Amino acid sequence: MSDFTMTIDGKAVAGSSRFGVINPATGEVFAEAPECSRAQLDAAMDSAQGAFRAWQADVGVRKKALLDVAEALEARANEIAPVLVREQGKPLKDAFGEVMGAAVWFQVTAGLEIPVEVVADTPENRIEVRRRPLGVVAAITPWNYPLLLGVWKIAPALLAGNTLVIKPSPFTPLTTLMLGAILRDALPPGVVNVVSGGDALGAWMTSHPVPRKISFTGSIETGKKVAAAAAPDLKRLTLELGGNDAAIVLDDVSADAVAEKLFWGAFQNCGQVCSAIKRVYVPEKLYHPLVERLAAIAQGVKVGDGFQEGVQLGPLNNRPQFERVQELVDDARRGGARIAAGGAPLGGKGYFYPPTIVADVAEGVRLVDEEQFGPALPVLPYRNLDDAVERANRTNFGLSGSVWSQDPERATAVAGRLECGTAWVNQHLAIVPFAPFGGAKWSGIGVENGHWGLLGFTEIQTMNVAKKPAGG
Ligand code: NAD
Repeated sequence: MSDFTMTIDGKAVAGSSRFGVINPATGEVFAEAPECSRAQLDAAMDSAQGAFRAWQADVGVRKKALLDVAEALEARANEIAPVLVREQGKPLKDAFGEVMGAAVWFQVTAGLEIPVEVVADTPENRIEVRRRPLGVVAAITPWNYPLLLGVWKIAPALLAGNTLVIKPSPFTPLTTLMLGAILRDALPPGVVNVVSGGDALGAWMTSHPVPRKISFTGSIETGKKVAAAAAPDLKRLTLELGGNDAAIVLDDVSADAVAEKLFWGAFQNCGQVCSAIKRVYVPEKLYHPLVERLAAIAQGVKVGDGFQEGVQLGPLNNRPQFERVQELVDDARRGGARIAAGGAPLGGKGYFYPPTIVADVAEGVRLVDEEQFGPALPVLPYRNLDDAVERANRTNFGLSGSVWSQDPERATAVAGRLECGTAWVNQHLAIVPFAPFGGAKWSGIGVENGHWGLLGFTEIQTMNVAKKPAGG
C-alpha cells in the first residue's frame, strides 16, 4: 500500500520521501506514507493562509461542508476502518466505530452556534461580544484514536472559520491522509491541508510563523515543548495531554456490581486512552474480591489481530509503547507487586500484551505514579475515603476520574472533590460531542468539544457602537 498522499492546496501531493507504517499485529511494514519536506509544509501553511479570507465569510457554507464531509466519511467507512485496524491495531468493530464516531462529530459540530452576546443596549450605545476566527490552526494528533481526535480539531476549527494544517502521528498517518482525500473533494483548496512525517515536522509546525493557534493532543512531555514553541509568537494553545485517572470505589457496592465496567473503563483500546482508568482505589473489605473479579475478566478476554472474529483487544500500537508497558509491569513485580492476571507479552511477532491486573502496589511505584497508557491496571486498597481522595489528587495529572457507588448522590459529592477536568459517576470514558473535555493541572490547557471547544478556535472581538452618527 503506497498510494497515500498528502493534501496541500487542494491537491494530492506525494512526499519528498516516504516512511514505512508498521502493522502492530505483525510488527511488519505494510504501507508507506509521504514524508513532508519543509518546503511542502511552507506551501501548506501559505495555502491555508490564502484560503482563510474567503472561508471565514459564510457560516452557512461551512455548516453544509461539515455535513457533506460526515456523509462522505460514512460512505467510505468500510474502506477506512480496515486501514485503521492495520495502522492502529484495534479490532475492526472498534475501528468502524471510530470512523462512524468521527462522522457524528462532524454532524454535531455542524449544529453548534457561535453566539453574539449583547452586554449593553441603550438608546446611545450597543456593546456586543462577538467571536472571530483566529486564522490558520496547526493541529497535531497522537496514535490512539488518530481519526477521531483529528476530527475533534478539524470540525470546530472549520466551523469557527479557521483553516488548518494537520499532522497525524507517524505511527498512524494513513486514515488521516484518507480523510484528507475526502476533505479536498469537499472543501475549497487550502482550507484543510494534511501533511505527514515524523516528530520534527510537528516541531516545524509549532514554530512556523503562519499559524495563530496550535491544537495539540499527545503526551505531557511533548505538550510542554509545544507550549514553549508557541510562546515566541504568542500562538493560542489547546493542549490535550496525558492522564493518570483514578477510579474510587465506595464501600457500598459489591465487586460483582462494578468489576465489568471498571475493567472496560481501563482496558478499552488496550488501555491506550488518555482518559482510561489508570489506578483503582478500593475499600479494604472489597479489595481481594475486586482484584479476583478483575483478574477473572482479564483472563477471559480474547486478544489478537483486530481482523480475527471475536477479538476484543488488539496489540499495543507500537514497539516503544509495548516495551514501556513491559518495563512498568516488570518494575512493579520487582518491587513486590502481585500479578493477578497477565504480566508478560503473548509472544509472536506482534506487540501483544494481555490485560494485566496488578495488586499489592502503592504510590511510589512507577506503574501507579506514571501514565502506563497500556493494558496494565494497578488496584490499590484504602482504609479511609478522605485518604483515597487525597491520594487520587496527589499528582500533576488531572484529566478525569470516577467514583462508583450504590448512591449516585454520595458518589457525586466525592467526585466533586477530584482535581480533574471530567468527573464521572458510575461510569468512565463516557465522552460525548456536546460536552467539554479537557485536563486540569498538567493534563492540559483548554478544552475540546461542544460549544466550549468551539470557542477555543475563536477570539473575542468586543463591538462597542455609539449609536449617534459621527459628527451628529
Ligand atoms: P506524543 O506526544 O509522543 O506525540 C503526539 C504527536 O506530537 C505526534 O503527532 C508526534 O509526531 C508529535 N510530536 C512529537 N514531538 C513533537 C514536537 N517536539 N513538537 C510538535 N509535535 C511533536 O504522544 P503519543 O505517544 O502519540 O500519544 C500518547 C499520549 O497522548 C499519551 O500521553 C496520552 O494520554 C495522550 N493523549 C491525550 C488525549 C487527550 O485528549 N487529553 C487523547 C489521546 C492521547
